[in-house]
Amino acid sequence: MKYKLEYIWLDGYEPVPNLRSKTKIVDFDAEPTLDQLPLWNFDGSSTRQAAGSNSDCFLQPVALFPDAGRNHGYLVMCEVLLPDGTPHPSNSRAAIPDDPDAWFGFEQEYFLYKDGAPLGFPKEGFPAPQGEYYTGVGYKNVGDVAREIVDEHIDLCIGAGIMIEGINAEVAKGQWEFQIFGKGARRAADELWIARYLMLRLCERHGVDVNFHPKPLGADVDWNGSGLHTNFSTKHMREAGGEEYFAALMTAFADARDEHIACYGPDNDLRLTGLHETAAIHEFTYGIADRGASVRIPHSFVKSGHRGYLEDRRPNSMADPYRITGRILQTIETITAQALIEDAFAA
Ligand code: ADP
Ligand code: MN
Ligand code: MN
Ligand code: MN
Repeated sequence: MKYKLEYIWLDGYEPVPNLRSKTKIVDFDAEPTLDQLPLWNFDGSSTRQAAGSNSDCFLQPVALFPDAGRNHGYLVMCEVLLPDGTPHPSNSRAAIPDDPDAWFGFEQEYFLYKDGAPLGFPKEGFPAPQGEYYTGVGYKNVGDVAREIVDEHIDLCIGAGIMIEGINAEVAKGQWEFQIFGKGARRAADELWIARYLMLRLCERHGVDVNFHPKPLGADVDWNGSGLHTNFSTKHMREAGGEEYFAALMTAFADARDEHIACYGPDNDLRLTGLHETAAIHEFTYGIADRGASVRIPHSFVKSGHRGYLEDRRPNSMADPYRITGRILQTIETITAQALIEDAFAA
């Protein structure tokens, strides 16, 4: 049987990569598994990943998802390798720490765009001000094609085995959110990239673009920006936790504030002004149920003895999730190491 394998990778564009893909037709006797997929190559000089004189880059399959949008199709997430088999400098996935027991929940906000403006915006000027669009229903709030798109996206994600947890219409007209949950710093981010891929691909048919910019309408008008709130928990946070550990965690996050911001997406200064639903970019704050803080502590976290997950509200809609999950784990690991040193001294 011939299978259509869509090899998907991140290109070398800065400050954020684009998704790229091409189809490989391969014969298999039965449904393929990841370890059966061949290495492949592409022209890196066309993706800002190589010079024209020596343009081959390699695609290493790292995750496999059924493609519900295609007969006998699979989506193949890949890492980009140099000809010598080492990770390409643009390969943000290879560089991060990982932990299969670290869980991440992303809330991906985005705008659907048509002819250069959010879906539902009039040809000139603006629609009715924000207020009724968030979780809204009815043509005047969500128009006619958006619902079709977001519903089909749910089915494509479920078909791919991605843990999509929900969707909702957001605060601005034409703005939406989907939530993806995953286990492991790499796996959770793989699933988010594939969910973004599926959204982009399915919108082609509707003549609609997906705009992931964190402040697509600019900072001067009062229209909502887009975030990528990242909810996270490690095994230690879920099972041991405690107030002391939580305090150490927040100190580590405060100390690494700039390193986190560097991984949380470009143009975040336009969004993290401190006026809306997160703290200002140069501050680090946290608070229980506080949607104006950098990190929101769910009520459930405090009630269960400072155990559970936390929400980092700073990452933006355009950020590379590999860099987000990797940075969060890197910061968490500093206090684990510190605690071990203290334990050794105490003993
Ligand atoms: P909000 O109230 O901030 O809009 P959402 O319901 O949109 O919250 O998203 C909450 C997210 O938290 C979901 O994506 C969910 O997967 C995630 N989540 C729930 N429990 C955990 C956990 N233990 N570890 C990590 N993420 C979690
Ligand atoms: Mn949400
Ligand atoms: Mn939201
Ligand atoms: Mn949130």
